[in-house]
Amino acid sequence: MLDKSIKELSQGLKNGDFSSVELTQTYLDRIAKLDARFNSYISVSSDAALTAAKEADTRIAAGDASIWTGIPYAHKDVFCTEGLRTTCGSKMLENFVPPYSATVTSQFDRAGAICLGKTNMDEFAMGSSNENSFFGKVVNPWSSSNDLVPGGSSGGSAAAVAARLAPVATGTDTGGSIRQPASFCGITGLKPTYGRVSRFGMIAYASSLDQGGPMARTAEDAALMLQVMAGHDPKDSTSIKHDVPDYSAGLNNSLQGLKIGLPKEFFNEHLDSSIQAVMQTAMKELEKLGATFKEVSLPNIGLGIPAYYVIAPAECSANLSRFDGVRYGHRCEQPEDLMDLYKRSRSEGFGNEVQRRILIGAYALSAGYYDAYYRKAMQVRRLIKNDYVAAFEDVDVILSPTTPSTAFGIGAKGDDPVKMYLEDIYTITANLAGLPGISVPAGIIDGLPIGLQLTGNYFDEARILNVAHQYQSQTDWHLKAPGNID
Ligand code: GLN
Repeated sequence: MLDKSIKELSQGLKNGDFSSVELTQTYLDRIAKLDARFNSYISVSSDAALTAAKEADTRIAAGDASIWTGIPYAHKDVFCTEGLRTTCGSKMLENFVPPYSATVTSQFDRAGAICLGKTNMDEFAMGSSNENSFFGKVVNPWSSSNDLVPGGSSGGSAAAVAARLAPVATGTDTGGSIRQPASFCGITGLKPTYGRVSRFGMIAYASSLDQGGPMARTAEDAALMLQVMAGHDPKDSTSIKHDVPDYSAGLNNSLQGLKIGLPKEFFNEHLDSSIQAVMQTAMKELEKLGATFKEVSLPNIGLGIPAYYVIAPAECSANLSRFDGVRYGHRCEQPEDLMDLYKRSRSEGFGNEVQRRILIGAYALSAGYYDAYYRKAMQVRRLIKNDYVAAFEDVDVILSPTTPSTAFGIGAKGDDPVKMYLEDIYTITANLAGLPGISVPAGIIDGLPIGLQLTGNYFDEARILNVAHQYQSQTDWHLKAPGNID
C-alpha cells in the first residue's frame, strides 16, 4: 500500500481493495511507530482524519468520489487549518488554532482528501535544514545514523513523504524550500509560478516570493496535487487569473524537439564533480527521449543570494511585526509596561534566525538605507528576471542541479548563516523571477539522493511536469526508498 501512486490508491479505494479508514489508519500507525525518529510531524490529527475517512468511504460507496476522495496527505504547518493547531514551527504560534482554513487547505478538503496532520518546518519557513524549528529538528530518513538534515524549510513534508509517513504533502517555497528538501530526501517537489497557487491562509514569510506547491514521490502525483492547488483566488490579490490546464493530460507528451538550456554560470568549476556526473547521466536520458541542449547565459545569477537576503528579510520584518503579543502570538508573563510586553514577547517567541532576519530587514528598510539596500536589491531582481526572459526565448526549460551537495550533517552549518544561505544557490533565482521549478530525483551519491532541477517559463508547470514524468518513465531514482526504516 505504501508505494502506491495516488491513482493506484484511488483505484484501490474504488475497487474496495481497502477502505479509506484502513488506509488512513495504516499511515497513522506508521507515524505513531516511526516518527519519534524523524520528528517530521508537529501535530497529528488522528480523530479528525478517521472521521473524514469514514465520510469518504460513504461517498466512495455511493459512487460520488473524486480521485482524491479518501486519500491521506500531510500539510506543512504553515497552512492554516480551521480547528487544527498551526504553529509555523514557532513558539510564537505554539497554541494557535486558526478560526479559518487556507484556500489550499479548503481545496484539498473539497477534493475529499484526508489531512493526517501538520509537518515540521523551519520557523516561519526560514532555513535550509529544518534545524530552526521550535519543535525540534527533523532527521533525514536516508541517514543511517540519524545525523543528516532533510533540508528545509519544508523538511518535515519531505521526510514524511520519503519515509512513507504520508503519500504526498504540501510545501512552500520562498527561496528553495520545496525543491531543496525534495533533492535531499529523494522525492519530487514543484514550486509553481508566483501567483499560480493562492497564498490566502498561508502564513507569510516574504510575500513577493512565497508560493505553495506539491511534494510527492512522482511527477504524476505532483500533477494531481497541483490540479487541486492551482487557480485564481479572489482572497489573494497576487493570485493570477490564468487558465488552469489539465496537468495530467500532457504528462505523456513526447520530448522530441524539446530545447533544454544549460546555464553556463551553473555548469562551471564550482559544481561538485559527482553532481556534474549525475547531471551528465540525466542529460543522456533526456537526449534519448528527444531533447536537445543549448548553453544559455544568466549573467546576473550570481547576485541572487545577496539580493534575496535583503528582500526576504525586508518583507519578513514587515510581515512578522503583527506578532506583538497583543493581537497575535506568544505573550510574556507579567509585563511591566507596553514596551516591555513587546520586547519580551518577541524575544521569547521568535528563535535566533527569525530575529536575525527581522533585524536585517528592519535595517535595510530604514530611512537612509532603503535606497542603498532594498531598492538596489529590487533592481538586481529585475535584472535576474530579464536574464531568464531572454534565455526562454531560446529554450523551453532550463536544467541545473537543485542543490550544491547531498544532505549535510545536523549541526554542520548551524554556526555560519552565510554557509547556510549558499545552500540556495541554484533555487533562489526562480523565486526572484517568479518562475516555476521542479526537483526530480536523479541519482544517489554515497548512499544519498540528489535531485536535478528543471525551471520552466511562466505558467509552464505542465511542461516541466511532462519532462519530469518522461524522465521518470525511463529511470527509477524516484522509486528508491530509504532503507533501514521499519
Ligand atoms: N533557505 C531559504 C531561506 O532560508 C529559503 C527558505 C524558503 O524557501 N522558505 O530563506
